[in-house]
Amino acid sequence: MSSQDELVALFTKVGIDEKKTKELVKNKKVASALESILTNDLAGVALDAKQLALVQQVAVESKQGDIPHRSLLTKQIASGGIKTALQVTEGVKYLYSADPVDEAAFATAAGIGQELSEADTKAEIAKYVDANIDRITAERYSCLPKVLGELRKVPALKWAPASVFKPTIDALFLEKIGPKDERDVVKKEKKKAPKKEAAAASTKEPEPERSMFSEGFLGDLHKPGEQPQKYPELMKAQNEATGGKVFTRFPPEPNGFLHIGHSKAITVNFGYAKHCGGNCYLRFDDTNPEAEEEVYFNSILDMVSWLGFEPYKVTYSSDYFDQLYDLAERLIQSGHGYVCMCTAEQMKQGRGLKADGTLGGERFACVHREKSVEQNLTEFRAMRDGKYGVGEATLRMKQDLTSPSPQMWDLVAYRVLNAPHHRTGDKWKIYPTYDFTHCLVDSFEHITHSLCTTEFQLSRESYEWLCDVLRVYRPAQREYGRLNITGTVLSKRKIAKLVNEGIVRGWDDPRLFTLEAIRRRGVPPGAILSFINTLGVTTSTTNIQVVRFESAVRGFLDQTTPRLMMVLHPVEVVIDNVDDDFAEEVEIPYKPGDAAFGSRKLTFTKKFYIDASDVREEPADKEYFRLAPGQPVGLMKVPHTVSLVKIERDADGKPVRVHVNYDKDSTKKPKTYIQWVPADARDIAEVRVYKQLFKSENPQAHPDGFLADVNADSEEVIKGAKVEPALTEVQAKSPMNVPVKGSEFNVEEKPGNNTVRFQALRVGYFCLDKDSTDDKLVMNEIVTLKEDSGKK
Ligand code: ATP
Ligand code: MG
Repeated sequence: MSSQDELVALFTKVGIDEKKTKELVKNKKVASALESILTNDLAGVALDAKQLALVQQVAVESKQGDIPHRSLLTKQIASGGIKTALQVTEGVKYLYSADPVDEAAFATAAGIGQELSEADTKAEIAKYVDANIDRITAERYSCLPKVLGELRKVPALKWAPASVFKPTIDALFLEKIGPKDERDVVKKEKKKAPKKEAAAASTKEPEPERSMFSEGFLGDLHKPGEQPQKYPELMKAQNEATGGKVFTRFPPEPNGFLHIGHSKAITVNFGYAKHCGGNCYLRFDDTNPEAEEEVYFNSILDMVSWLGFEPYKVTYSSDYFDQLYDLAERLIQSGHGYVCMCTAEQMKQGRGLKADGTLGGERFACVHREKSVEQNLTEFRAMRDGKYGVGEATLRMKQDLTSPSPQMWDLVAYRVLNAPHHRTGDKWKIYPTYDFTHCLVDSFEHITHSLCTTEFQLSRESYEWLCDVLRVYRPAQREYGRLNITGTVLSKRKIAKLVNEGIVRGWDDPRLFTLEAIRRRGVPPGAILSFINTLGVTTSTTNIQVVRFESAVRGFLDQTTPRLMMVLHPVEVVIDNVDDDFAEEVEIPYKPGDAAFGSRKLTFTKKFYIDASDVREEPADKEYFRLAPGQPVGLMKVPHTVSLVKIERDADGKPVRVHVNYDKDSTKKPKTYIQWVPADARDIAEVRVYKQLFKSENPQAHPDGFLADVNADSEEVIKGAKVEPALTEVQAKSPMNVPVKGSEFNVEEKPGNNTVRFQALRVGYFCLDKDSTDDKLVMNEIVTLKEDSGKK
């Protein structure tokens, strides 16, 4: 063997870097093997960096002594037959063990000439994913690393280019289960949590499942009985009334339909009370008779119950008009109320309205502020008796004009309104304001937690002030962040415009985000609750994109709905090589991997339907795995593949019938499986497929108004689709939802068209629309199977 210097010179000459060379010469065995390779096997051969690395690998793997017939291996490295480390390892293994050494057998062992093309590699990976689709759908991205590991062991993929694996599997996961969403995040967190606690909590009671009620804003709330009071003696009666239970209320104004944001308020108020074993009122805040309508009362009641909540009592602020009036007189008598004759404009000026229209100027008391109790009482009673017209007089709270908070600048408690009221008729000419009513009715109803959104933060001061000056029990108002959804409009006025201009089908059009619309679209209430639970409750506003909401809905539907086969654009298929009476029964589980759903049977006969897009006459290529000349396709759960014979077309070239053969003697696995429906499939009059109603994330911001942002193609109506006959069973058993295990958000629903929901394999999630009848099926797409990447 040469001296160290000679070795260094040799190694650097062939292109091995200095550091590596130093390392190599330290190991005598490796250095001498490498010297031998370079001076005997490959003398004078130029090697690139990759080849040099492989040659070094041969030297390193020569541990058991000289490799017999080593030049077979090294020459293949030089000529490009061996390109990977795996090939070297397998080749070395063969040469050490084979006796006699056979050149052809060596080539096989080392994978020479067996490299899989990129396309074949992708096809093999796709096959593996299809075979494991149930598990992938269930475990989602958490099983990706495992699947990748398993793929590397698949014999057919032994000589596949390693660099293709990861991108291919990533793309397939995206295609099959959509992008990562809440489910993928939640699972990770859940796994972590028990670990952290395991050590400390091993002797404690098992922790209850964490939820929006046990952590964050709601988790930090006080216990009933701990509401701070100016007059603590008031707590005795309060605690007797509640029996120590949590009392909350959901106080909608009956002046519009509820929307997605309200579902957070409902979940917070009803859900928190339920979670704590307490009670929640549904209180209609009907102090503004001009805006109220019967439909809103009914719709609100309906939505609360749809979300799975039962009000402890349904009350109305107007139930308390007499009590409120008495307290208004008490306010005056205690010196904290006065009748003010200022106009709205004068009132603003007293509150510091500056010439430029902004507040912040000097505040001053008006002349009405300093009247006697008697005079105020007389005038207030005159207000009550209709002696003043609208805007001529108000009752104001005598608060603190020096306070920095506008909520303390003598708020209006009562105003004159010349409007009959839904419930009290003509009895009242004056109506209390929100600021006067809300805290007092909370107090009457013994509310322990008056939970509202953060716009009311400043109101907390006036809320407490009023309870205190009237010496009534003071409930604790606490504020949490609103839920906003972007890419849509929620305001009543804007939705009314969309309805009036005929842009949508009504207030419950499935493209809107009123709760009526969301229900009609087929979204299960449990999906909304668990979505809100995932977001958690904090004091900041949550802004959510429509796609995120949809993704949560998709995840919920995936776990809870049966699967059916539906073809949107059916084309008839005839099997040429079977008899007319050919029939095979196939049984398909409603949800693979979940026995709780049961299964249905379909009859596969000479005639059936597939989607027109699943067959073509051009030969198959890398991207097209479905039915094509020379490329058979699998039909879900049908034992054998079918191969294309020909496509029959009408005079216009439109396909009318596809002729196939049933490949009874073939066991070859198809590249993919497609959905089909049998000859006795049910016809669907309309399938309505939706895209977002607006083009941008912020329709309000459009310079030409939000209507200019409307997406003209947000609803596509497909006529003539077909669904397998088992829809009838799904209808009869509706809602055929299986509860989510261990979830506190499983909601029992009243059956209706909207509860007839299912996943149409390879198509999307659907339900029957409210327009659907027994002889005219109409369906809504609830959400697509995967997130729509081409949204913009
Ligand atoms: P909008 O202004 O959207 O019409 P609102 O506040 O006038 O809503 P109300 O009927 O007064 O509607 O609302 C009833 C309850 O619902 C209130 O306690 C309110 O704070 C709450 N709420 C309304 N919108 C949201 C939202 N986006 N997120 C959370 N809670 C909301
Ligand atoms: Mg309101």
